[in-house]
Amino acid sequence: YAQPGDQRVAVIGLGRFGSSLAGELMRRGWDVLGIDTDAGLVQKYSDGLTHSAVADCTDPEALRQLGVGDFTSAVVAIGSHIEASILVTSNLLDAGVSNIWAKAISRQHGQILERLGAHHVVLPEHEMGERVAHLVTGRMLDFIEFDDDYALVKTVAPDVATGMPLGQSRVRSRYGVTVVGIKRPGQGFTYATADTVMERGDVIVVTGKTHDVEAFSELS
Ligand code: ADP
Repeated sequence: YAQPGDQRVAVIGLGRFGSSLAGELMRRGWDVLGIDTDAGLVQKYSDGLTHSAVADCTDPEALRQLGVGDFTSAVVAIGSHIEASILVTSNLLDAGVSNIWAKAISRQHGQILERLGAHHVVLPEHEMGERVAHLVTGRMLDFIEFDDDYALVKTVAPDVATGMPLGQSRVRSRYGVTVVGIKRPGQGFTYATADTVMERGDVIVVTGKTHDVEAFSELS
């Protein structure tokens, strides 16, 4: 994991994934070293990054010169060049980077990166595809699934659960879901309590078993 107090991340590969990630880290106040072999891309993003460099990170010497070994966190945002992604990940491991995130473009690619020792592997296309499947088929506004079949869902409050305090409507025992947040039209989200009364048109955030939160979001 990221080291408390160390607010630096090296992002290797400034394609669509890497550049979006680097931009968000910058907006969140982190220091970002962005590296790409493509000078045009580095030029394009350099103004928005703390540091940037044109370098081939399959070369351990290039990483050493840039001081990447001093970083605790690095992201390998190289998808389409699988060989480069593997070499760069192994170089970062050799350099002692302790929080390596790597993007994979296929499950096989992801397996290799995990086997190699990458600490976190993400499959953006696969994960997003699965997530959108849940949204397309139902009425959920947003959906995140965690391990063990557990999900967090943003949805519209079903009529069956409106008009009385959550404590009385027994949403948890009846439907197996917990309402954690509620948003009235035109207002922000606030946390839900046993006294919260949901009204028609409220947007809510609920947690529970994937099957249960999906069934709950289908109620009207
Ligand atoms: P995306 O799908 O997010 O656009 P790509 O896999 O197409 O991602 O982009 C990966 C980026 O990584 C490209 O900009 C490419 O130039 C860069 N890249 C590829 N190999 C290396 C390397 N050895 N060192 C640094 N950057 C690299």
